[in-house]
Amino acid sequence: MSDHTLVNKFGPEPIQYFSLGGKFQHHQKSFKQQPQTETASSLRKLNRLSFLRDNYAFLNSALHHHTTRFVLFKDGNPFIETNDSSDLGSLGTYPNHFDSSSKTAITDSAEVPKYLPARPVDAVFSYTDLNTISSLIGEPFAKSEKEMIAEWDPKLHALGQETVSLVFLGINEDLSSTNQNSQAFEWVTQHSDDHVDRYIGQAYFALDLSSQFHHTPALSKKISQVITAVEKQYPTSQFVMGLKRRFTVFESSLFAQAKPYLDWLSRNLFCGGCGNRQMIINGGNKLTCPETVAGAKQPFCPTRGRVTNLHFPRTDCCVIMAVINKKGDKVLLAHNRRHPNKRYSCLAGFIEPGESIEDAVRREVWEESGVKVDRVVPFTTQPWPQPGNIMIGCVAQCESIEDEPINLGHDPELTHADWFPFDFTRLLLERAYHGLELQPFKDGEISNRIEQSFCQTANDMALPGPETIAFSLIEAVVNGRVTSTPKI
Ligand SMILES: [Zn+2]
Repeated sequence: MSDHTLVNKFGPEPIQYFSLGGKFQHHQKSFKQQPQTETASSLRKLNRLSFLRDNYAFLNSALHHHTTRFVLFKDGNPFIETNDSSDLGSLGTYPNHFDSSSKTAITDSAEVPKYLPARPVDAVFSYTDLNTISSLIGEPFAKSEKEMIAEWDPKLHALGQETVSLVFLGINEDLSSTNQNSQAFEWVTQHSDDHVDRYIGQAYFALDLSSQFHHTPALSKKISQVITAVEKQYPTSQFVMGLKRRFTVFESSLFAQAKPYLDWLSRNLFCGGCGNRQMIINGGNKLTCPETVAGAKQPFCPTRGRVTNLHFPRTDCCVIMAVINKKGDKVLLAHNRRHPNKRYSCLAGFIEPGESIEDAVRREVWEESGVKVDRVVPFTTQPWPQPGNIMIGCVAQCESIEDEPINLGHDPELTHADWFPFDFTRLLLERAYHGLELQPFKDGEISNRIEQSFCQTANDMALPGPETIAFSLIEAVVNGRVTSTPKI
């Protein structure tokens, strides 16, 4: 375990796209809790107010407030307006840390990039209001949650009968983007004479307009009518895949929160303990298997009276890792057979039960590539709403050159994997950052920057864009943000 390059500096923390938005900036967050940089003010997310989700008076008040916004999804795709004409090739100069003359990667003196400039937003949400959707959702919070559970009758209330998935997401407490003349939504909880909690903001809900096989014809018709109405309201908006879109900081976090919840609700119609139809409660954030169905007491169900992972949305843990060689000058990149032809990336895989994050990294790297890694350092994480994963980004290193040979024979997942020099990889990162990854290099454009033998290879490879944690990981290793000197 000696002679390792791998020590996380615990310096700038990469801001991941779906957790804090699309700025791709780094802010100072050390153990001393240094003040955040100027970028932090733009890192807005919803206050989820999870402790109020079972308070239907609160939810009803939020639902009916005139400033409340509804985020629409259909078949997992958000209703958005896109700008496909943005010219990604003219986004100005490369960030400083992409200076190709720098050969200081993986050294203590390597300059740490303060931030990456934001790429332009290319999609915005098209929100709707309660009036447009009220015929579809009715009054889901008119009674208390307890009363609604007691009245539960799946023939009337189950998802697909008269019910669609509606999820309370939270409130945006930054009111600078709302109409200053309109009174914001406000909720006050009076704990005692001298203890009052007050929550002020703009409420957000997510609504699923997918028409599923289990929907009644009447419900499907209502959904179609709402879709027609919102398409009329926003003639240039569409339901399109949101994963690779560049939303604002705020809307990327909205997308990352809403999509996993709606997906989870659509795929968990029946109780995993007894097979009964499940009831959506807590404003779409929880499922329950009621004790009574249409007033009739139900047999025992192991999910009742205890906390189970059957009634809460799950987050699946994946590891994704930038693997570097013993010498610390090459990174392992691979082409997965599920990816487009030129797309190379880090290795990745799901964590299995009984595995630590570090063990999962070692297993996945060996199974997929034959490479044996020793030291593993968790580096950063990113929610990945496809549909509900958390990507745990690590950097891993081989302890000896005997551990570096590549063998794709264990697991057929990869079509190709190889070690690539940092200079070469940095070149590909620049291309990915500017959205030029699929365009061939011009003659002579790169021959002075990388070894001749890699010039042809450069045209055959493309790295993921800066929205991805893979980009952050690769950038961290090739630009020297992993170092041999412990900082704590
Ligand atoms: Zn049950």
